[in-house]
Amino acid sequence: MKILVCGGAGYIGSHMVRTLVANGHEAVIFDNLSTGHPESIPGLPLVQGDLLDSRALLQAFEHHSVDAVMHFCARSLVSESMSEPNAYYQNNVAGTLNLLDAMRRAGVDKLVFSSTAAIFGQPQSDVIDETHPTVPINPYGASKLMVERMLADAASAYGLRSVTLRYFNAAGADPDGDIGESHQPETHLIPNVLRSVLGRGDGLKVFGTDYPTADGTCVRDYIHVNDLTSAHLCALQFMRAHTGAHAFNLGNGCGFSVLEVIESAQRVTGARIEFERAPRRAGDPAVLVASSAKAREQLGWEPVYTGMDEIIATAWRWHRDQRY
Ligand code: UDP
Repeated sequence: MKILVCGGAGYIGSHMVRTLVANGHEAVIFDNLSTGHPESIPGLPLVQGDLLDSRALLQAFEHHSVDAVMHFCARSLVSESMSEPNAYYQNNVAGTLNLLDAMRRAGVDKLVFSSTAAIFGQPQSDVIDETHPTVPINPYGASKLMVERMLADAASAYGLRSVTLRYFNAAGADPDGDIGESHQPETHLIPNVLRSVLGRGDGLKVFGTDYPTADGTCVRDYIHVNDLTSAHLCALQFMRAHTGAHAFNLGNGCGFSVLEVIESAQRVTGARIEFERAPRRAGDPAVLVASSAKAREQLGWEPVYTGMDEIIATAWRWHRDQRY
């Protein structure tokens, strides 16, 4: 299949492009390069454009006759969304609306959409499955939930087929070590831990040590980026046989606290990692752990990377020789 990968120069998008090509698909990347890295997609077709630019989108569909779209373009920082909500609604909601319009005009009826655990808000159970109430507590989660609603409406009205994948905490890097996670500024835990080992950044901070968890730090479900991309391949397959809008939670089903992540990074790197205890970050729930039973059953998806040390080892390989 030929896939338009919106946000294909970003962290998860670039891994997706690599997985598509490795599996015999063709990828065309649509990216405004605001946070993406062209170095991560060498030699592949890139349309530099913004989802808010309807004309650029229409042209991309006219020039490249694609079978489906994967949509990774988004602003995705919880705390930034608390201080700049309009930017989140504009980019994530209005941008996606433009994309849906352009797809409709081009007659492309299959979409894999990247959503997030943040749509659930404060968890009301230890493990979050798809029946969990969706009550986001930050504009980032709210913006993604709005799109999920748009996809359900587009399925009924226009026959759009979609699979929404709600990522918990994407982590790790391709084991080859030549693409990985690189944000500016970096806010994510695992890159910040590894950067502190390499003496980069301003020193590691642990945000919140008074949460109601075993060690007082936040618990998250870290899922390897290549396990996310394999779920997207399963989603493509699924849409061949299923109409409608479908949503799946994607995680390992296993939570790790911030301190456990730091301990794992100490084992992998052999370094002693110092950190400062800092106040809680706005908008962070204490625990977010996924049940991915539905994805396993209905998509036939099976994550390969299940251990934290294994995930961090791939991220470490990238960070040591970081190329962009
Ligand atoms: N975190 C931290 N120090 C950092 C970055 C993150 O203590 O430098 C914590 C953060 O407060 C959260 C967890 O690590 O509890 C995961 O944060 P991340 O930004 O990686 O992902 P999020 O869960 O926000 O999507």
